[in-house]
Amino acid sequence: MMPKNRHFETDAIRTQTPSSDQCEHSYPLYMTSSFTFESAEHARAIFASEMEGNIYSRYSNPNTDEFITKVCRLEGTEAGVATASGMAGIFTTLAGLLNQGDHILASRSLFGSSHQILSQILPRWGISFTYADTNKLESWESLIRPNTKVLFLETPSNPGLDLIDLNWAGTLAKAHNLIYVVDNCFATPYLQRPMEHGADIVTHSATKFIDGQGRAIGGIIVGSEEPMEKIQFFARHTGPSMSPFNAWLFSKSLETLSVRMDRHCDNAEKLAKFLGDHKNVNFVKYPHHKDHPQFELAKKQMKRGGGVVCFEIAGGFEKAKSFIDRIKLLSRSANLGDTRTIVTHPASTTHSKLTEEEREAVGITPGLIRIAVGLEHVDDIIRDVQQALG
Ligand code: PLP
Repeated sequence: MMPKNRHFETDAIRTQTPSSDQCEHSYPLYMTSSFTFESAEHARAIFASEMEGNIYSRYSNPNTDEFITKVCRLEGTEAGVATASGMAGIFTTLAGLLNQGDHILASRSLFGSSHQILSQILPRWGISFTYADTNKLESWESLIRPNTKVLFLETPSNPGLDLIDLNWAGTLAKAHNLIYVVDNCFATPYLQRPMEHGADIVTHSATKFIDGQGRAIGGIIVGSEEPMEKIQFFARHTGPSMSPFNAWLFSKSLETLSVRMDRHCDNAEKLAKFLGDHKNVNFVKYPHHKDHPQFELAKKQMKRGGGVVCFEIAGGFEKAKSFIDRIKLLSRSANLGDTRTIVTHPASTTHSKLTEEEREAVGITPGLIRIAVGLEHVDDIIRDVQQALG
């Protein structure tokens, strides 16, 4: 039994599977698709869940188990499933929990592919949704229907960095008996722990800050035993499983999460300040920057502001594109949470599948630029952004 009062940094490093008879210090990689049984009776007992043991890596594997145990510990919850990508995690969560005829109340400020799952994929099986606006919290309760089963949100949102009061949403979900699902990808458990605010399920794209080095795609779903049982059943039989190799990478990466997140935040704070003072910038948005409309909420529910900064360049779509083209050191890419700083133009890339009105509704203006601030020296990051702004 692990002590309850250990610090986050220690848990991220010391939540570790006991070593084998080789006494290895770093947990090894179990690159195997199946496991053997000592006898017919041993096989029967494992299949009957009368004893613990691995059967097949689609169901469980020592590396995915270690990764899940660690994320559960860091998020403060009990059970989990590791998936092949963040989107596999979100789809598995919703499809595992919901039946034909059910309804989802979702924040409008979601990652692009989450919009596609809600609007193009789940309706094929009779699961409907309604969007609620982050700046109209007073309207959310009236959007709940008798068949609403899930409340789904992302805070801070990608890319607009809109926040939702996690405590407020937890109270709403509880009052209406909704399963409360939070995509915690941007904050990570180091900065924000939705389970402490009443969430039932937390999802992550492990591809982002959990890996932190732009190497692997993965997702993780963690939460309370009861809703997780349905998700585990769905995952076991539909097979969105994470590969043992990726689980091994992510589990190791978590050991440095706090150190990396602190540096991401240090750099992002300085970049946000620089952008906020620049004449060619209409506005900057960063949760812990004084100009963020939800600055007070950000201070309350996020330990620090995170590693992503957005700003609107003066001059709209064309200026945004030429800013991207003028970048020299930083990377033009659509990822985030990497050691390397990445610049993205959401309107023409990650959120291009939304209509202009849908983008407008979540603040993705034609001139919006997202900077996923990396771990290079902040002066070099700012110098490149400065020369590209002209
Ligand atoms: N959720 C958020 C908030 C994201 O930003 C992303 C990807 O950018 C995802 C989910 C999807 O994750 P993946 O690309 O690992 O499928």
